[in-house]
Amino acid sequence: MVKDVCAEAINVVQCLMGKASHYNPFALCERIGISTITDKPLQKDGYLVCSDGLKLIFVSSNIQNQHRREFVVAHEIGHFLMHQEQLYCCSNVSVPLSEKVNSSRQEKEANSFATELLAPATELLPLLPNRSLCFSDISFIADYFDISLSHAAIKSIQCSKAADEVLLCYESGRLKWYTTNGSQEFKNKIPKRCPIDISVAMTSTYTNGVWDDLFEGSVHQEVFRPYKDKALILLSGIMIDSADWYNS
Ligand SMILES: [Zn+2]
Repeated sequence: MVKDVCAEAINVVQCLMGKASHYNPFALCERIGISTITDKPLQKDGYLVCSDGLKLIFVSSNIQNQHRREFVVAHEIGHFLMHQEQLYCCSNVSVPLSEKVNSSRQEKEANSFATELLAPATELLPLLPNRSLCFSDISFIADYFDISLSHAAIKSIQCSKAADEVLLCYESGRLKWYTTNGSQEFKNKIPKRCPIDISVAMTSTYTNGVWDDLFEGSVHQEVFRPYKDKALILLSGIMIDSADWYNS
């Protein structure tokens, strides 16, 4: 359902802007006639205001990362194209980590629209390797679509052609979020505290014994640190659930 509504909205964008591999949300705003205001510090990430012919998108100036600003604008355009309310006040605007995200249907749809606008799955799929993902693949994809590395990583994992990959994000040593291309229910098995010392971890290695609750045997582990206290950890191997399944 989310996908149908999004696909329709993306069709509208293609009619307005012509077919492209991905779209700049600020350029799309100009085309639609939506003014964007980005210099005010606001309580929430973004707002869409439609009243008396006026169309405004506010993005909080507290958000300084350009990729994040673009994502918020894309999210608000999603509300404009798909939903009917005159006012949307949006917090926690982010790339959807799974279908089961605990937010309202309209917020989910706006997030899905944003990620499809900025990095359409149909454009992404041919860029993915026929093997487990590496951060070098993800970095290429981030550059290709001009999106953040986290956005590229989440979307790449979700579309990955390889089975049994997990992406974990730890901030200050604590689990912030995770995503996977599988449907495995393993949330409670993921260490809430980062089990490896990020400051000395190799960027790419095979490891045993660290992720035993998630994987069977040897695990390919890549560590990327976009910021000092933030670590993205990409794991691939044979996940416990599927190992049980194969053995039974
Ligand atoms: Zn929203």
